[in-house]
Amino acid sequence: MPCLTRPRRRLFYIYGDEKVDEALRMRYRYLDLRRDRMQHNLVLRDQVVRYIRDFLSARGFVEIETPVLFKTTPEGARDYLVPSRIHPGQFYALPQSPQQLKQLLMVAGYERYFQIARCFRDEDQRGDRQPEFTQLDLEMSFVEREDVMALIEQLMTGIVEEVSDRELITKPFARLSYRDALARFGTDRPDLRYGMELIDLSDVAARSGFRVFTSVVEAGNPVKALCAPGCGDYSRKQLGELEEIAKAEGAKGLAWLAVEANGAARGPIAKFFDDGLLRDLLARAGANPGDLLLFVADAPAVVNAALDALRREMAGRLGLDDPRKVAFAWIIDFPLFEWNAEENRWDPSHHLFTSPMPEDIPLLDTDPGAARGQQYDLVCNGYEIAGGSIRIHDRNLQEKVFRLIGLDLETARERFGHMLEAFEYGTPPHGGIAPGIDRLVMLLAGEPNIREVIAFPKTQQAADLMAGAPSAVEPAQLEELHIRVVE
Ligand code: ASP
Repeated sequence: MPCLTRPRRRLFYIYGDEKVDEALRMRYRYLDLRRDRMQHNLVLRDQVVRYIRDFLSARGFVEIETPVLFKTTPEGARDYLVPSRIHPGQFYALPQSPQQLKQLLMVAGYERYFQIARCFRDEDQRGDRQPEFTQLDLEMSFVEREDVMALIEQLMTGIVEEVSDRELITKPFARLSYRDALARFGTDRPDLRYGMELIDLSDVAARSGFRVFTSVVEAGNPVKALCAPGCGDYSRKQLGELEEIAKAEGAKGLAWLAVEANGAARGPIAKFFDDGLLRDLLARAGANPGDLLLFVADAPAVVNAALDALRREMAGRLGLDDPRKVAFAWIIDFPLFEWNAEENRWDPSHHLFTSPMPEDIPLLDTDPGAARGQQYDLVCNGYEIAGGSIRIHDRNLQEKVFRLIGLDLETARERFGHMLEAFEYGTPPHGGIAPGIDRLVMLLAGEPNIREVIAFPKTQQAADLMAGAPSAVEPAQLEELHIRVVE
């Protein structure tokens, strides 16, 4: 690992108890940041960003800043709004990403743009989310999906191998279609540091005498399983813990079989399989003596969610998710839309500027759910690291997508009229991507939470405990902004 440049003079060293109360760490963040771990993380972050700038600049990219006070730029979250003093009752929206602006820069003729961009999304917080976060935002003209993917693959490989001390174990990066990712791992962000793929055993299960399995298959739903190597001796308590994990994802229960030394199977459902069927089952599952098979039978979404959670749990228990290893995978061929049953309309799976696959454009009129988008996601160690796409650059196609997602033309023109208008002036075909810097550095630093790689992060409740934000403001300020607070 290259030597990380330390700040030249370190006056204070604080060692020791890593289990300091989280709120206390945030309240005294400037002291927390003195610790070696935090010093290391922020220096690593600096080096990653520097590497990105050098890499892109050497390839003809221009770094351009876009405004933070702007108009809604939807990425599927709520907007943060800023009231205007000069225009009573009107608001700016902080960008959820610079998506529209970077596309307009392509219309403007900057063929290779990037920005280390701050993005704002008001959504429920998780360990890998913050209300404001940083992306490497990037856009290119006259490119196809392969061009963007090749550039990012080279960049990420360089970062891992030249900046971090992690081992890149996917060379080249793995590639999976969205459907294959769900079928084999139960998720579109699989952790490929280890195998333990899900196995569809519906046909074998249908031939068993176990009513739960046969009725699920009769209803057209799958029975899938996971083979945990060497876990055949799990205790009742351990199996109960695993069942709770499956139930938390909506499964009604968890069936299991342990393979004994002589190849026979043990467990409450063993009696429903005759010898021949059992042999088929174990062969298909690739199960060996000493292994544990975990089954979930339910609707596809429940089966996938439960087995994905169990796969990650078992990888943790077996020590397969080694933080020193880095495994990237591209996920491609996403459906362009997802059906929103609550609102009775299609939602974009990525965002509303993503272009359909050229051969799927006719499907927009006949079967929009079957149309695939020119979208590509980059996942790393089970996290979504980047999402991007080739964009629509044709006004008619863009208007059609607006209509399909339930935006009437008037609303679409009011919100995105500047985009539609710009498309009239000659727009190069273009596409881009936006890797999340916080998540990437979190993985490279082996940290469990993006807070550990952000100097002054917010808490789970989106608060800054050091300065006390958000906070009430003076009545005079509110008046100036034409705002009345409803108690
Ligand atoms: N704007 C997208 C995002 O923030 C990235 C992209 O499509 O380039 O996820």
